[in-house]
Amino acid sequence: MSGQRLGIMGGTFDPIHLGHLVTAEQARADLGLDEVVFLPAGQPWQKDDDTTSAEHRYLMTVLATAANPAFSVSRVEVDRDGPTYTVQTLRELRAQLPDGELYFITGADAILNILTWKDADECLELATFVAATRPGYDLARLEAEGIRAEVCVLDVPALAISSTDVRERFAAGRAVRYLIPREVEEFARKHGLYGTDGNGLALGGVV
Ligand code: NAP
Repeated sequence: MSGQRLGIMGGTFDPIHLGHLVTAEQARADLGLDEVVFLPAGQPWQKDDDTTSAEHRYLMTVLATAANPAFSVSRVEVDRDGPTYTVQTLRELRAQLPDGELYFITGADAILNILTWKDADECLELATFVAATRPGYDLARLEAEGIRAEVCVLDVPALAISSTDVRERFAAGRAVRYLIPREVEEFARKHGLYGTDGNGLALGGVV
């Protein structure tokens, strides 16, 4: 489709939470995007090995986004062998949408490290980068990295929610309701992700 304004929501989504969904919806509205494609990273090469399997993260992302007609989920990075390089995905999308406008949306802290990504300059040419910030985020950090002028900033109060906190809550047997979609919570418990057992009970904690 020519002239399409496509949002690409890049992340590990381990797990996807309401902050991610609010970010995508806010980006869609503020930037006038036609669609937002969620892009779970297959093998995030700058992360530890204890990341949840790509298939589980992909399925949780599908469950979380299914009801929104403007959202979809791409398997492209999940299905690609080897470490996940954003530049490869952006090249493929650019080839599919030669006249489209690509907006790569992700966390500001991830974008802070963009100069360490593979072919960083090409990434910045292929798409407009949108840095989603948590409350109190210090924009001087982007300036210090010399990339403030290269990126759009999206202030998202709901990003007070974080995947790290959600994983810690699961492991400690604390409530995650209203932080992640109910379907994602049930899926994570069913598959024993994040230190929960298959019966929906946290291991070693009281809900
Ligand atoms: P990360 O370092 O785990 O995340 C950094 C921060 O950004 C965290 O606070 C995280 O919060 C937040 N965040 C991540 N994705 C977000 C999103 N879509 N919306 C709002 N906040 C988000 O980052 P990552 O998940 O590994 O990587 C983010 C994206 O950058 C992915 O698409 C990844 O493939 C790409 N990346 C590419 C390269 C490369 O090409 N060489 C290298 C590194 C990263 P939560 O934990 O709550 O999400």
